[in-house]
Amino acid sequence: MRIVEDFNNTEDFFNWYVPKIEEFVPNLKAYVLSDRHADIARQIPKISKEYVQFMFNRIREIINVPDNVKLVYDSGMYTWASTYNTMRKRLEIIVPPYAQYQIYYPPIIKAAIQHEMGHIINRDYTVATKGKDSNAVNICMDCRINANINRDWLSDLTNATYKFLYKKGFDIVPEHFYPQIGMPYNGKVHGWKQIYHFWKMHQKTLPPSEEPKTKKPDSKKIYEQPKVGDIVQISSGDNEGDLGMVLDVDENGKCDILPMTIAQVDAHFEGLSAGG
Ligand SMILES: [Zn+2]
Repeated sequence: MRIVEDFNNTEDFFNWYVPKIEEFVPNLKAYVLSDRHADIARQIPKISKEYVQFMFNRIREIINVPDNVKLVYDSGMYTWASTYNTMRKRLEIIVPPYAQYQIYYPPIIKAAIQHEMGHIINRDYTVATKGKDSNAVNICMDCRINANINRDWLSDLTNATYKFLYKKGFDIVPEHFYPQIGMPYNGKVHGWKQIYHFWKMHQKTLPPSEEPKTKKPDSKKIYEQPKVGDIVQISSGDNEGDLGMVLDVDENGKCDILPMTIAQVDAHFEGLSAGG
């Protein structure tokens, strides 16, 4: 059943993996650069039931997956994913076709399962995204989860699933993502709602014509002066990096801020959405 021996470093793995994918997807580079992920996945060979079982066993050997989480193979999927299957009443981690090769480099499997278990443990599948930008919500959830994942494993996972070494750029982790949305990073990690709120606040202030498609905006130019009642991130003093509510703003724009815990901020936004 085994195709090759496990690889023990990133370079050796990708020297085998990318050409392997290109056997079936000769236009891999062009597809990657144009984000045609579904077209890539569709061309990966279908596998037998026996191989699916071998792959699942291998995944559970590499990393503990709770018994109540079912692994489900989906040959049409282009990403690892997780969901609560309401018909079958069970938690599922969806395993994409790439995993048939990814199992030979355990760090990728570890990062993938840790990431999906992060969604499950945080019960992200219960979050209703109605009225929100669901793609942005997902990215904020990913950022919160990825904060806890080994950066090398994470980079191996994204290279083996989306970038195939043809795309550069950083993964969605706080130290890279926060600055992109105007949020200072000082080692603390926030819940997805806080990250989302900052991101939306940042976008709101962008003139529509200048809204960048790919270019990252300059966060300095687009920050609005906070108003009384706004939730902001504290930029100096003992509570630097924490969130708080603006109680007062003086004529120089200096804010008096009441520090708040993540739970208090969550409760505040819950209250706002329930009221509006
Ligand atoms: Zn995710």
